[in-house]
Formats: sequence, C-alpha cells, structure tokens
Amino acid sequence: MTATSERTATAPFGDLAAGLRGDVIRPGDPGYDEARAVYNAMIDKHPAAIARCRDAADVISCVRFARQHDVEIAVRGGGHNAGGLAVWDGALVIDLSLLRSTTVDPQNHTVRVDPGCTWADVDHATVAFGMATPSGFLGSTGVAGLTLGGGIGYLSRRFGLTVDNLIAADVVLADGTFVQATEQSQSDLLWALRGGGGNFGIVTSFTFRTHDIGENGMVIAGPVLYDIADTPEVIRWYRELLPSLPEELSGWIALLTIPPAPPFPEELWGRKACGIVWCYTGRHDQADQVLEPVKTFGSPLVVGLHPMPFSVLQTVFDALYPAGMQWYWKADFFNEISDAAIEVHVKYGARLPTGHSTMHMYPIDGATSRVPEGATSFAYRDGGWAGVIVGVDPDPANAGPISQWARDYWQELHPTSAGGAYVNFMMDEGQDRVRASYRGNYDRLAQIKHRYDPDNAFHINQNIKPASA
Ligand SMILES: Cc1cc2nc3c(=O)[nH]c(=O)nc-3n(C[C@H](O)[C@H](O)[C@H](O)COP(=O)(O)OP(=O)(O)OC[C@H]3O[C@@H](n4cnc5c(N)ncnc54)[C@H](O)[C@@H]3O)c2cc1C
Repeated sequence: MTATSERTATAPFGDLAAGLRGDVIRPGDPGYDEARAVYNAMIDKHPAAIARCRDAADVISCVRFARQHDVEIAVRGGGHNAGGLAVWDGALVIDLSLLRSTTVDPQNHTVRVDPGCTWADVDHATVAFGMATPSGFLGSTGVAGLTLGGGIGYLSRRFGLTVDNLIAADVVLADGTFVQATEQSQSDLLWALRGGGGNFGIVTSFTFRTHDIGENGMVIAGPVLYDIADTPEVIRWYRELLPSLPEELSGWIALLTIPPAPPFPEELWGRKACGIVWCYTGRHDQADQVLEPVKTFGSPLVVGLHPMPFSVLQTVFDALYPAGMQWYWKADFFNEISDAAIEVHVKYGARLPTGHSTMHMYPIDGATSRVPEGATSFAYRDGGWAGVIVGVDPDPANAGPISQWARDYWQELHPTSAGGAYVNFMMDEGQDRVRASYRGNYDRLAQIKHRYDPDNAFHINQNIKPASA
C-alpha cells in the first residue's frame, strides 16, 4: 500500500458527507457500481468515494477535504471521456452530474451552463431562442470535458471551437479557493481553460457566446452515404470541395456500417459505407444552391438531408451509441488527406470489425483556423481535420479485436498526420503525445499549471506537469 492509499483508507469520508448538500457514495453502498460506471464500459475503476455535488460549495468542500487528507481527485462532468478520466482507482470522484441548469440571455447572446450539463441540455435551452453555441456532434457528451479540451463540431467552421466561445468560467482551484476567469480577470487561467483540459481547477459554471443559426434554430442537415467501394473518389472530392464551401455548410466524413434501423432503407442495413454528415446553418432560401454539389456528386445510396431543429440534429446519433459499450480510441490531427492516407482508409474501411466501429474526420478550418495558435491553449489551428478511429461494440468479448483494428489502422495512418492529436479523443498515450498535442503552447500551460496547481492535484486528465519554479 502506498502512503497515499493508506491515508485514503483512513480519510474521514463521513465528515465530508456531513458537510455536503450532495451524497457521498462509498464501496459497498447501494448504487456504488452505477455511480462509478462511465460511458466507456472498457473502464472499470474503483474510487474510494464518489461525492455527488449539489453546488459550488460542495465542490469547494471536496477539494479542501481531498487536499487535507491527501486523497487523489478525479472530476466527473458528463463521464464521456475516451480514457474514462472521470473516475480513478482509490480517488475521490467529485461528481458534477447532478448540476444541470442553464440560463440563456437572449439580449446579450450568452448562455450560462452548469458543469454537469450535456450538450443536449444546452441545445435544448438555446435552440428555443434560435441560437446555439459551437459544441460537438452528439447530445449526450458532457459540456465540461468537451469544452475544456477544445470542442469540435458542426458550427466550428462558422463560429470557431467551443473554447473560442467560452467567455467566463467559475473555477474552484487546487487550494479550495474560488475565482472567476474572464478576459479581464485571471485571463491567463481563461487562456489555459480554453483547451488545457481539467488541469487548472474544477469549473463550476461556464458562460458561452451564442449565435443565431439557420432559421429560428432550424438547419438543413443529415447524411449522404456512398458504397464503401466509392471511398477513394468520395474522399478526394470531399477534400477538394470543402475549402470552397461557404462556412454555413460543414460536413464530417466517416467510414461506417449503415445502422440496422429506420430511417435507413432495410435493404441497406449492415452495408459498409463511406458517408458525410452535412449541416447547413444559413438562410433557407439559399439552401438549394449551396447544397446542390453535395446532393448531386457520385451515386449516393442515401441522401438524407432534411430541415430540422439543430437540437434534433445534435441528438440524432445518441440512440445508436448508448452508454455502456466497449470503446477503443486512436486519434491524430491531419493537415491534409493525402493519397497515401486514402489507401489506408480503403484498407481498414473494408475491415470495420463491428457495426458500431467507425472512422471520422472533423474539419478544422474556417473560423477555427482564423484564431491564432497562441490565442488559446488549443494549438492545432492551421487547417485540416481532427481524425479519430474508434473500435466500438456492446460485447466485452470483442474488446480485443476492436482495439487491435484501431491500433493497426492508426499505426499505418499516423505517418500521414500532423503529429499530435485532439486531447479529447486520446486514451492514455503518455506525456510525449500530450506535449505534441499542445505544441508551442505547452510551456506556457506548464507555467500556468505551476501558478494554479503547483502540486499537480488535478492530474487525472491529459496531464500537463507544473513547470519547475
Ligand atoms: C460518443 C462520443 C462522441 C464525441 N463527440 C465529440 C465531438 O463531436 N466533438 C468533440 O470535441 N468531442 C467529442 N467527444 C469527446 C469529448 O469531448 C470527450 O470525451 C470529453 O472528455 C467529454 O466530456 P465529459 O464532461 O463528458 O467527460 P468526463 O469524462 O466527465 O471528463 C473528461 C475530463 O474532463 C475533466 N472534467 C470534467 N468536468 C470538469 C470540470 N467541471 N472542471 C474541470 N475538469 C473537468 C475530467 O476530470 C476528465 O479529465 C466525444 C466523445 C464521445 C464518447
């Protein structure tokens, strides 16, 4: 037993529970197994305790308790993280998942968001006002982790990353004090939170800029799918076309298996495909003209573009990917999709190991790449794509094959990449990969880490080590 785990074993968790509005769940308590479960069922961690916080005061108490008793701290927002970094063996999990309120300010185009919200909560709140803040491609993902790592989604071409729209954050620091980070106050902390992950403190409130989208929040969106044999032509066409499209139109490309469910025609269920999921957020009277090239290219199996509220688009894939499946992730940034890369995609697209396994490439361009690399801690701004290969399956018996497929695919594709990866798509890949992902921003992040968390109390994340004094 290490000194830390000995101290954890004797830490007075009952005293912590007595001071909280929320509950403390310990091994053996009813609900412990549900409380320690995260989205990725490959993660099986046994924390010392899970504190389900009810407010910022609970978070402060948890941090002070953990520091006083030398207990490791894990922080849970939406619990979606690829590597399961919301839970940890022997740690106190500071669980924010009960904190889910939002407040929209339609006059000032902002939304204030609690740290346990999912993006479905936020889209529900803002789309009612015809607005949205850039997020991702799924409703069930947590706001906290996605934001702190960057936030790449349908609206990034037009309005930047989620972090580019983060204007204030309330933060509980490693010593248990509370600050508000804005451009005017603790601006170095805000800079670090814009991509630096959970390294600097626990965010208890996020304030985002919102934007008018579509017509009263209605966008025109959906997948266009092609036979997997068309992959080389489709990728070549897509990589040339995308830069020429207006920023109101974005689309991510995927290799996938057509889900065995409506609205897909039954004769296509289970067929491997190459597809692009498009989202047009501009004026509807211009939609036909803008969407014409994406509807007419090649011989699509499915053209599924329809008007829908942005909040519906964001949740359309949630049912396909419920919590509790096995996930193995490998990722990279790409400045270009080279012909050599296309050959690798063709090879591994034909070998998709399960119906849920997939490869996605999300555009990093437009408004995202106009933000200078040093303006936020998110470093990969020079154009291209964030790519991710995910082996996914409900059956734990398939954990081995899906992981092997993802590793082999990544191994062959990686030489065509830009070097680092989006930290929110990484599992545990070690310090060199974290450094590579922050590039020239790493040293400044390490200095800010030293200022706000010199003991590295917040280290269960894609960790940035504090610079030495
Ligand atoms: C199915 C799926 C789809 C995804 N799609 C996208 C996408 O479209 N775009 C995109 O950008 N990303 C996407 N992601 C990646 C996603 O951004 C990360 O998984 C992210 O970590 C999820 O955030 P969370 O709050 O749910 O995670 P959690 O697992 O709760 O936390 C992730 C990390 O953030 C820390 N953390 C959580 N809350 C706080 C807080 N309040 N303060 C400080 N630190 C905190 C945790 O300690 C942990 O290190 C997707 C992930 C999944 C599983």
